[in-house]
Amino acid sequence: MIIGFIGLGIMGKPMAKNLINAGYSLTVNDLNQNSVDELVSFGANALSTPKEVAAVSDIIITMLPNSPHVKEVVIGKGGVVEGAKPNTILVDMSSISPIVSREISAELSKKQVSMLDAPVSGGEPKAIDGSLAIMVGGPEDAFAKVEAILQVMGGSVTLVGDIGSGNITKLANQIMVASNIAGMSEALVLATKANVDPEKVFKAIRGGLAGSTVLDAKAPLVLAGNFKPGFRIDLHIKDLQNALDTSNSVGTPSPISEAAIEMMKSLSSEGKGSDDHGGLIQWYEKLANV
Ligand code: NAD
Repeated sequence: MIIGFIGLGIMGKPMAKNLINAGYSLTVNDLNQNSVDELVSFGANALSTPKEVAAVSDIIITMLPNSPHVKEVVIGKGGVVEGAKPNTILVDMSSISPIVSREISAELSKKQVSMLDAPVSGGEPKAIDGSLAIMVGGPEDAFAKVEAILQVMGGSVTLVGDIGSGNITKLANQIMVASNIAGMSEALVLATKANVDPEKVFKAIRGGLAGSTVLDAKAPLVLAGNFKPGFRIDLHIKDLQNALDTSNSVGTPSPISEAAIEMMKSLSSEGKGSDDHGGLIQWYEKLANV
């Protein structure tokens, strides 16, 4: 069996390496030749278009930035759809709009190609150690065929529902992470401005109801003024925009996502889009003059 892997960035590269380490044969593609060369020296084969990758693969994994990239690679000219054999399974692990996942799946089904949307949470460290949280949408029979492959990359692999459910789940994750970071920033800047040591506030509350994985991961970095990514503000803007588009399409209110995206866009326009999303605290610090 051959796995095609398209998109060898911060996340895709270690995920592909873990599959090779687990004994799978990989054929890879990326616009970045350095990343391709690195994977080839690690044991992968490479082909120059998604169409060619699809033609030799039984399962194709994509790990690309956003909806337009996945559309181009899968259903664009020279894309996966032009090369894929019937009964191939496409597993898109990018975080994209669930509306676009459904559009792409509908196109692929005309060629008897099944699709799963399987975005991840956990960032580069969990991509490296193969312990990502993977949230999957799509048909059960396709999921059963790729579950063992997903287990190589994930610490938890959950089939949530039909196609698009994986990305709806990822949006839920991103809304909650953004609101946690914004609430933490608001609270720590309040403490600082009121002359209370924010380090001590963090230590005092982390074992109580306000304690969270986000607080434990982000507060120590934020308090040290360390905004090295991690997960870039610009990527979180992309996810919140997808959340807002989806909430508009189903008719739900989203004031928290709207507030968080405005703060993040303001930071991005000041050249801070590549800071870690914990850098959101800088929006509060600027307005509070701290
Ligand atoms: P990245 O920008 O590092 O990598 C994307 C890769 O896709 C690049 O190597 C790029 O060259 C390649 N690419 C883009 N267009 C292409 C095309 N047309 N053909 C072939 N290759 C193409 O991004 P990343 O950080 O690896 O993130 C990938 C996805 O995972 C995103 O949707 C992101 O939101 C999500 N994600 C990222 C993190 C994180 O911490 N970085 C965590 C969870 C989820």
